[in-house]
Amino acid sequence: MRTTTGWQAAGPTSLRRTSVERRDLRPDDIAVRVDYCGVCHTDLHALRAYDQHTRVPLVPGHEFTGVVAGIGREVTTFSVGDHVAVGNIVDSCGVCAMCEAGQENFCHSFPTLTYGGTDRHDGSTTLGGYSREYVVRDTFAYPLPSGLDPAAAAPLMCAGVTVWEPLRSLGVRPGSRVAVAGLGGLGHLAVKMAVALGATTTVISRTHDKRDDARRLGAHDLIASTDTQHMATARDTFDVVIDTISAPHDLAPYLKLVAMDGTLSLLGYLGPVTVEAMDLLIGRKKLSSAGSGGRLATAEMLQFCADHSIAADIEVLPSSQVDTALGRLLRNDVRYRFVLDMSDLD
Ligand SMILES: [Zn+2]
Ligand SMILES: [Zn+2]
Repeated sequence: MRTTTGWQAAGPTSLRRTSVERRDLRPDDIAVRVDYCGVCHTDLHALRAYDQHTRVPLVPGHEFTGVVAGIGREVTTFSVGDHVAVGNIVDSCGVCAMCEAGQENFCHSFPTLTYGGTDRHDGSTTLGGYSREYVVRDTFAYPLPSGLDPAAAAPLMCAGVTVWEPLRSLGVRPGSRVAVAGLGGLGHLAVKMAVALGATTTVISRTHDKRDDARRLGAHDLIASTDTQHMATARDTFDVVIDTISAPHDLAPYLKLVAMDGTLSLLGYLGPVTVEAMDLLIGRKKLSSAGSGGRLATAEMLQFCADHSIAADIEVLPSSQVDTALGRLLRNDVRYRFVLDMSDLD
């Protein structure tokens, strides 16, 4: 076993510094020195749901960048010293229809999650990127294109690819009309990517407070969802509405914004929703969802971001302040993603 240091769940929003065991390198493994790890809403949910009495530790973190520190004997695509990025899935069956289609994120036997997942070989529980080292199968690590800042690129690996895949699969291109509902970790990246894809992009936010931010991110307009008159005039005007709102909410006002044959893509809140069929019928509208990304799309997204100088707007904190980051994320007090600097774990 390899031993490193990390942050392990100690309470609903608190972690404690502890030693973390990593497996010895398999032939196709690489060891990554984790430099930067983003703080995702999923980490909050995992901590809140964590049973303190279980003997299985929880180490969150599933969007990180770092440097290759060791390679298994069959690894040919990476060398020690390479900059890499790892997202929220670290393995899949490799043979089902979804894996064959390059959508490992939808693997029929469920992809192995970066933390809280079950390793496909030894059955151990995976421990995440809030740690100084991570061991991962080479095919689920991605070269970090030069030009991308390693700290600001970390959130691309979960938040970024989660909005990238639907934007691409829904055919967003120059001339598309895209609305992004909710301007947080997912939303601010959706705006940057939609703008870079050439779409006329509008932010839907509860109030006008984020108007300047929306402009700075490249959005062409902001509609306050509480402004019923503005919402009414925007009816049927967006080919794609990317909904990143993380709390339960009424979908009807957002479906109304979708143009004929357009799509509302639900990415933030993944619980049960209620939809009036008439809100879909009038205008032949579609409701869809997505999450994470396949290997091909993830690599493509990283290159696109490098080519267009896209990365997350981040606030970097030393990893010892992880509790602060989680507490502030819980209060939505972040623009737009916390990233932990892991160098204090040495
Ligand atoms: Zn995430
Ligand atoms: Zn599969």
